[in-house]
Amino acid sequence: MQSTLEFPPLRLPERVQRLRDEVRAFIRAEIDAGSFDPDAPETDWEVHKAFARKVGARGWIGMTWPRRYGGQERSFLDRYVVNEEMLVANAPNTVYFTADRQSGPTLIRYASERIKAQVLPRIIAGEACFSIGMSEPDSGSDLFAAKCRATRAEGGWKISGSKIWTTNAHRSDYMIGLFRTSAPTADNRRHGLTSFLVGMTAPGITCNLIDQMSGVRDFNEVVFDDVFIPDDQLIGEVDGAWKQATTELAYERSGPERFLETYAALRGLVALAGPSPDPRQAEAIGRLVAELHALRRMSVSVAGMLEAGREPVAEAAIVKDLGTIWEQDLPQRVRDAAALIPPGPARDDFDRILHFNMRIAPKLTIQGGTTEILRGVIARGLGLR
Ligand SMILES: Cc1cc2nc3c(=O)[nH]c(=O)nc-3n(C[C@H](O)[C@H](O)[C@H](O)COP(=O)(O)OP(=O)(O)OC[C@H]3O[C@@H](n4cnc5c(N)ncnc54)[C@H](O)[C@@H]3O)c2cc1C
Repeated sequence: MQSTLEFPPLRLPERVQRLRDEVRAFIRAEIDAGSFDPDAPETDWEVHKAFARKVGARGWIGMTWPRRYGGQERSFLDRYVVNEEMLVANAPNTVYFTADRQSGPTLIRYASERIKAQVLPRIIAGEACFSIGMSEPDSGSDLFAAKCRATRAEGGWKISGSKIWTTNAHRSDYMIGLFRTSAPTADNRRHGLTSFLVGMTAPGITCNLIDQMSGVRDFNEVVFDDVFIPDDQLIGEVDGAWKQATTELAYERSGPERFLETYAALRGLVALAGPSPDPRQAEAIGRLVAELHALRRMSVSVAGMLEAGREPVAEAAIVKDLGTIWEQDLPQRVRDAAALIPPGPARDDFDRILHFNMRIAPKLTIQGGTTEILRGVIARGLGLR
């Protein structure tokens, strides 16, 4: 527990800037070669797969991980700039994104050596996609109410029940899921949950795609019907998964993906307004960029704290709270600023990007923990509850 919040200022070192230039040059070359379109709302899965392999070959996946598993033991700040450049360019990073951010680090900390040796090099090569199996129909914010059961079986466990809103489950190779292995105790309602690595081709798994209002179909209901999980796919401690979750959530909540998801709308506005925007547009762009800059400084600061081995849980929650509200409002603010820009082909392209971003905006303050839940985390971090 802490009574103050800290965002120590951090200037990215020169070497990180050089890495940024390298990533930018790579992305530019990929765009010029037609590998992906930075303005396309959605990109084919095959394009994501090919891109992941190229990023893996560059050594930009799992770059902070131990060398003995194929990582490079580079800093979180290196990872930060690679991630940031990919997001800003709307690069097709979906295959490796979740694994690089949180599933890989969870395996490094808690998985068996056999699993680490088998799975981590595949992630690093851009060949293993992960999903997160936490939410259930009656257990979203209140994760500790999860009911999807794992029961003892010979040589392992059997899983039955369902998860919901599982992003990319239908195309992932693995899920790290949270399952009920025993009942909560009277003095600890968090007790009784266990994490497992689930191979998504195991018999008994069905993924039912769910439509979203944006037109995107990337999340699922996942039904488990007596799915066998071998013993060595246990992640961490039986009944004690809640202890493992805290740091993972700090990684999940503080990155630039928590304020850059609708960034394409701002980039579109700057391009459309051109080199001499009218004073109203200039003022709107200036304000948005200044706010973005402040969010980014906070997020970089959290990356620095994670790098130093700290657990900035409340600070990460603040970055996500402020960041997701900002990115949620961004498309409407951009739309207002562009109101007087006349119709034409450039305006049509911009509107296409804008409309997509307006449709994804509502989800931004729900995924990865809702605004209300984050404020509870912040209050707890400040010792207020
Ligand atoms: C695009 C998207 C992708 C997602 N991807 C994944 C994924 O890959 N894996 C996964 O496991 N989940 C995923 N989720 C699920 C997400 O984590 C949950 O939707 C979220 O945690 C909220 O849970 P819920 O939907 O059950 O809502 P509920 O928990 O039922 O909340 C409903 C409302 O009540 C409020 N509320 C709930 N509890 C409290 C409280 N204690 N105090 C104050 N207010 C409260 C909430 O803030 C919310 O406004 C995804 C969600 C979205 C939108």
